[in-house]
Amino acid sequence: MEVIVVGAGIGGLSLGLALHQAGIPCRVYEAAPAIKPIGVGISLLPHATRVLSELGLEEALARVAVSAVESCFFNRFGQLIWREKLGRAAGYDWPQFQIHRGDLQSVLRDAFIRRAGAERLLTGWRCTGFAQDADKVTVEFADTGTGEPLPPQHGTAAVGCEGIHSPIRKQLYPAEGEPHYTGYNMWRGVSRWLPFLSGATFVRAGWLATGKLVIYPIRDRIDAEGRQLVNWVAEIETPHHQRRDWNRPGRLADFIRAYADWRFDWLDVPAMLAASDVILEFPMVDQDPLPRWSFGRVTLLGDAAHPMVPRGSNGAGQAILDVRALVDCLRKERDPIAALQEYERLRLAPTAKVVLTNRQNPPDAILREVYLRTGDQPFDDIDRVISRDELRALSDGYKRVAGYDKETLAAGR
Ligand SMILES: Cc1cc2nc3c(=O)[nH]c(=O)nc-3n(C[C@H](O)[C@H](O)[C@H](O)COP(=O)(O)OP(=O)(O)OC[C@H]3O[C@@H](n4cnc5c(N)ncnc54)[C@H](O)[C@@H]3O)c2cc1C
Repeated sequence: MEVIVVGAGIGGLSLGLALHQAGIPCRVYEAAPAIKPIGVGISLLPHATRVLSELGLEEALARVAVSAVESCFFNRFGQLIWREKLGRAAGYDWPQFQIHRGDLQSVLRDAFIRRAGAERLLTGWRCTGFAQDADKVTVEFADTGTGEPLPPQHGTAAVGCEGIHSPIRKQLYPAEGEPHYTGYNMWRGVSRWLPFLSGATFVRAGWLATGKLVIYPIRDRIDAEGRQLVNWVAEIETPHHQRRDWNRPGRLADFIRAYADWRFDWLDVPAMLAASDVILEFPMVDQDPLPRWSFGRVTLLGDAAHPMVPRGSNGAGQAILDVRALVDCLRKERDPIAALQEYERLRLAPTAKVVLTNRQNPPDAILREVYLRTGDQPFDDIDRVISRDELRALSDGYKRVAGYDKETLAAGR
């Protein structure tokens, strides 16, 4: 068995590591000429850190990540709506890591090269398509720099982990069209800032109609003053957007007005946004769930299989859960075609549910409820706006859908 992994993002590298751990040979092919620390922050929930811990990566990740201790929801006036513990502080056996995507990708890449060998990670190889027959799959590549064809690669199975613009998905579903814009545009950045609240708090504030913000630290003690690298995501309802490109620069002037008076006793939001090292702009896009991922010896994983709007910290996490399921199937089932079918049976329906829930009822539904019930005004007493039970039900409901409620994890699922 030799598995061709297409894409060395979070899903592809995790898959490479898990296949190697299971004793299944693989090669990972990445379009980028080099793996550079691109992106901003990612949150890894306990269902994903469990899998990464099983791959022996918890210590390496803990060195570069912030272990989240609590989640807080505020309205746009800085009034606290709901607070709950996260990760180990909430009694999970695994942490919740908040991490720079570049740090996460570097930990995965370094571990893969150390364990499987540098010759098994090929960069500058851009997948252009595939063909298969009864015995093998053949994946076609072009040199990213020159555009010249590279030698076709043969394997027992191929897994498309090339993210939201996956060419393998396009070949399987040529009529699908571009990702679907949900009506919300995002600006993301990282600022060097002194710790706020607990120093390891995941903050959601405001609401989309007037401006929502997600803020969390992703690197500790980055200078002598004890500053952190703080990730932020500004989301605003607007018809204006451009195609998702992870490197598209954004402009502060396009969104800062929505947050101009967000000066709270725990954070001066406009000053923190203006201090950003980098501003990137992405539309919130996803795709309708697919009816099938596995076609003979070829399947999809992560964003290539189920791109979702990033509103529940689950993009990377669901890719990592796919990895665990796929490698289990390949280990148990000798016939690769049957293994890919079983993987799809296990993962397609749960991830479709996450995609659809992220559209309508992600954890920030808490913010929507308070926005609607207060008419976007400050409240005197949150308990008269929404009960603790209702808030807990909204939060716990999402955990069950995404598969990181304690019962699911305790059952080993
Ligand atoms: C550059 C970049 C920056 C990102 N930044 C963030 C961020 O800041 N915060 C966040 O939450 N999410 C970010 N994401 C998305 C996030 O990594 C994914 O949503 C999630 O981790 C699922 O991972 P994935 O492996 O399915 O996809 P991705 O992590 O997107 O990985 C896909 C990989 O496939 C490669 N690829 C694409 N086309 C081809 C091809 N034709 N042939 C070979 N390889 C190909 C890409 O270069 C990439 O390395 C980013 C993705 C990318 C590619």
